[in-house]
Amino acid sequence: MTRPKLSRRQPWRTLALLSLLLLPLLWPLKHLAERYYTDQLLEQNRQTLDLYVANLLGTLHRYEVLPAILGDLPVLRRALEAPHPGAVDQANRLLEELRARTGADVLYLMSPQGITLAASNWQDADSFVNRDFAFRPYFRQAMRGELGRFFGLGTTSGKRGYYFSAAVRDGQAVLGAIVVKVDLDHTETLWGNTPEQLLVTDANGVVILTSHPEWRYHAVRELDSEERERIIQDRPYTTTSPRRLSLDLRSWLIQSRELRETDWTVRILAPTILVERPVRTVLAIGGATLLVLLLWLGLLLQRRRHLIERMALDARAREELEGRVQARTHELETLNSRLKGAVLEREQAQQELVRAQDELLQAGKLSVLGTMSASISHELNQPLAAMRSYADNAGVLLDHNRLKEARGNLQQISALTTRMASIISHLRAFARRDQRGAERVALQPALEDALSLIARRRQAMGVELIRDVPEATLWVQAGETRLRQILTNLLSNALDALGDIASPRRLHIAAGLFEDGVRVSLRDNGPGFGRDALGRAREPFFTTKASAEGLGLGLAICDTLVSALGGELRLGNHPEGGACVELLLQGAAPGTAYPNEDYLP
Ligand code: ADP
Repeated sequence: MTRPKLSRRQPWRTLALLSLLLLPLLWPLKHLAERYYTDQLLEQNRQTLDLYVANLLGTLHRYEVLPAILGDLPVLRRALEAPHPGAVDQANRLLEELRARTGADVLYLMSPQGITLAASNWQDADSFVNRDFAFRPYFRQAMRGELGRFFGLGTTSGKRGYYFSAAVRDGQAVLGAIVVKVDLDHTETLWGNTPEQLLVTDANGVVILTSHPEWRYHAVRELDSEERERIIQDRPYTTTSPRRLSLDLRSWLIQSRELRETDWTVRILAPTILVERPVRTVLAIGGATLLVLLLWLGLLLQRRRHLIERMALDARAREELEGRVQARTHELETLNSRLKGAVLEREQAQQELVRAQDELLQAGKLSVLGTMSASISHELNQPLAAMRSYADNAGVLLDHNRLKEARGNLQQISALTTRMASIISHLRAFARRDQRGAERVALQPALEDALSLIARRRQAMGVELIRDVPEATLWVQAGETRLRQILTNLLSNALDALGDIASPRRLHIAAGLFEDGVRVSLRDNGPGFGRDALGRAREPFFTTKASAEGLGLGLAICDTLVSALGGELRLGNHPEGGACVELLLQGAAPGTAYPNEDYLP
């Protein structure tokens, strides 16, 4: 009972062990997936970054040269040289028109003191006109004759802008400065609503443009004192002391580009979750596949184990069966050889018995012949004597030429030889060994033959024969010779018994067909079986007769023959006295009854 339990538990233990061993396989898969998705994201973001940078630079480059060109315009120069209302008005209008044409945010003209003389937004409420921007670095740069560049928050508009400036000259003399402000707010809006974030930091490392408004004006690094002072002076941001941007660098994939013209750094930040998510999916799929594989492997192992177990069971059952078959075969062989031995013994015994029976039969027959020899010689001597006297007479008659009478005598002799031949053939048949088995025999002719054999003696003894035998032939299973022999024996015994008493001597013969076969009963009115004789009459050599008369073989032979024919011989005494012998034989199907001419008297 413990075996199946073990075999069921073991594969799962093996499976668990296998999965532990296979689990590390997920690590390289994770690593590969991370590399793949990171590379993909970086490539995609690099392109986005390039596009953004190109756009930003494009915007800036478009306006970079504009101040230098505008510086040569006479209207602006005149306004600086003689800033009376007419000239300023002209300058205002020109700047307004130029702004409309160039798409710049604001164009304005500054006096050498840093005061705005004319501006494109001169009509707006928050006009730059008369505003003092002397503190802005781009003004100082322009006044030094350089191309001014500056990022800053509009002090009036609050909008982020990039300022380009140049000097307005009259020959070598610097009359003032012309400034182009480019709106940068809109470059931020170009950034879509994506998980990736934009981060543009200026030379101070402060965020000036970003898709994440909370990061705006935060420093990505520590600022030194010089930078802090410059911020206080230039006021480029809403705050004069930018706070540190705290970013968990592990949560972001960062790519950056340096813009040398502006000293800016453009960064694109992609949340690592963009990589983690597909990696997790890949791991889940990989894990599931591994699990399915393991389960499949487990099932395969289990099936294999079941198969092996079944094969082992089959083999064991086959072995047991073969063992049992071998043992049984051995037993049967032993039994068979014993049976063969027994059969052989039986056959030998049977043969012995048959031989003994045969011998007995033959002895019986010879005994009967011996006891009958007197009557036989009488039977033969009588016709012989008659023949001699007929022959003598015939000689005398021939001497007297009485030919007719002599022929009559010869005919008598011939008739007598026929009778003698018949008696001899009778005896020969009686003595002959009968080789044939039981066959269908008609009872009445056999009975007649037997009666004819004892006829002369019976008549000499004056025995009355009372017959109760039906006319219709009774068919029995027997041998003709044997049946005659039996009947002759029984009849002889009856005559022997009747010899012991005085007349009247009677012999009853009855025959009939009954349920158990054909019965022939012989009853005489002799002394009957003595007490001892009734029990032992069938024993060979048992006789109550004088040694010259009886050999004690008659009934022994009869009983043997009857039994051999499947019949029965019953001996008993009649209540009214005398012996009663009953012969029971098996009935046979009717055939054609014909008297055998050999046995006819
Ligand atoms: P046997 O005639 O040579 O004696 P049997 O075997 O024929 O031998 O008979 C055995 C004995 O059975 C006889 O000796 C006799 O005592 C007895 N027996 C046979 N038939 C009769 C009979 N019909 N009546 C009286 N006794 C008989």
